[in-house]
Amino acid sequence: MTAPGSDLPPEEFRRLAHEVSDWIADYLRDVADLPVYPSVEPGALRRSLPAAPPDAGESLDDALSDFRDLVVPGLTHWNHPAFFGYFAITGSAPGILGEMLSAGLNVNAMVWRSSPAATELEEVVTDWLRQLLGLPAPFDGVINDTASSSSLYALAAAREVAYPDAHRAGLFGQRQGRVYLSEQAHSSIEKAVVTLGLGSAGCRRIATDAAFVMRPDALDEAVASDVERGVRPVAVVATLGTTSTASMDPVREIADVARAHGLWLHVDAAYGGPAAIVPELRPLLEGWEAADSIVVNPHKWLFTPVDCSVLYCRRSEDLVRAFSVVPEYLSSTETGEVRDLMNYGVPLGRRFRALKLWFVLRFFGRRGIVERLRAHVAWARELAGWVEEAPGWQLAAPASLSTIAFRCLPSASWAPDSEADARRQDELNLSVMRRVNASGRAFLTHTVLRERVALRLSVGNLRTTRDHVRDTWALLREAADAERAR
Ligand code: PLP
Repeated sequence: MTAPGSDLPPEEFRRLAHEVSDWIADYLRDVADLPVYPSVEPGALRRSLPAAPPDAGESLDDALSDFRDLVVPGLTHWNHPAFFGYFAITGSAPGILGEMLSAGLNVNAMVWRSSPAATELEEVVTDWLRQLLGLPAPFDGVINDTASSSSLYALAAAREVAYPDAHRAGLFGQRQGRVYLSEQAHSSIEKAVVTLGLGSAGCRRIATDAAFVMRPDALDEAVASDVERGVRPVAVVATLGTTSTASMDPVREIADVARAHGLWLHVDAAYGGPAAIVPELRPLLEGWEAADSIVVNPHKWLFTPVDCSVLYCRRSEDLVRAFSVVPEYLSSTETGEVRDLMNYGVPLGRRFRALKLWFVLRFFGRRGIVERLRAHVAWARELAGWVEEAPGWQLAAPASLSTIAFRCLPSASWAPDSEADARRQDELNLSVMRRVNASGRAFLTHTVLRERVALRLSVGNLRTTRDHVRDTWALLREAADAERAR
């Protein structure tokens, strides 16, 4: 036993670290054998743990055994190959190793001096990713925790441009500003607009077409009518890979509207961005290089453990203007060209996230990434074909990237003609999803499109194979038959 208040002795740390890495290696090998979704009641873990912290320090062997016996059985396993919910992700082994080293180092790259190599690795790795994405050189990257933060910072820079005195004077007494986003845009955009002091009235939702993509003509009309009423247009947010259906907004045409009205164009490619690495998918992102800012999340469809979101800005000085507040104790005294990352967003302290992304890009290389993403898209499209052909099933949106939205119908000849019928169909879909998830063999989530429930299946895990997608389709059909027969 160590003296109270001392850290683990190095040899004890070594023993436990080996045990932990063995556990992770076994977990990654065997995760498919675990239920992807736990069968636990709310409160189960809370009840199984002491309500108060220990007075005397405890053995980490005991903590590890509680982790294995109490925590793991209550988890939804995002690493499971049949995890198809939200946007499916993977913490790949190279990314996990980078994360482990970053925890060991515990450096904080708030300014260049506080960890020069961490700052510069972030510059190098975001530039590598920029090249893989095919974005031009003026785009400058910085790593944040999440797309929610990245979009907040991008819109803060846009606000800085629209209200040049906002940094000093705030927005009091200013004309109402507006950010335009499609009715399919992610909730993080509205949250950012509210956080930036523009209020939810600062969001104007633009209609989408039958394929759930933003209509540039409706955008143009909305901006023109706002200008006429004295509202100040601030930014438009286009989404490449919307959350519900993975639809891809027509960025080139949206960029034309943005340019005509002097609007900042932010592209939320948190999920869809990595598709640009695959040559035959790149046309789907056509025009995104005209953006002022773009967010891409390697922690979504690029095998990097949560959290890792890259924000690219065409003129990062706008971002720096929005966030520079430099007290003497953080000022730089270096004479060379250095970047202080604290000036690119809200947090001062920052984790060394570049390391895991660097390991991921080095290990997979362009070819490995292309191979995997291409397979994910092919399996999702195959599933879309099965859905289209199956009686009593329908696609809820055109197939896009690796995410499919679809519905089951109460019968093959279903023709709802009342609100009660539509509710019955919604309830059937939710019951089918609950039944599949309760099986522990696959995990899906749902959405609502044009007021009706749809199921989503998102392929994004490194360990997913075509068989997992095919088996889940069989599971869905079984669940639908069972629910229809109830
Ligand atoms: N943008 C889109 C299109 C998303 O689907 C999501 C989350 O799924 C986000 C942004 C927010 O991502 P984060 O969890 O990194 O904030």
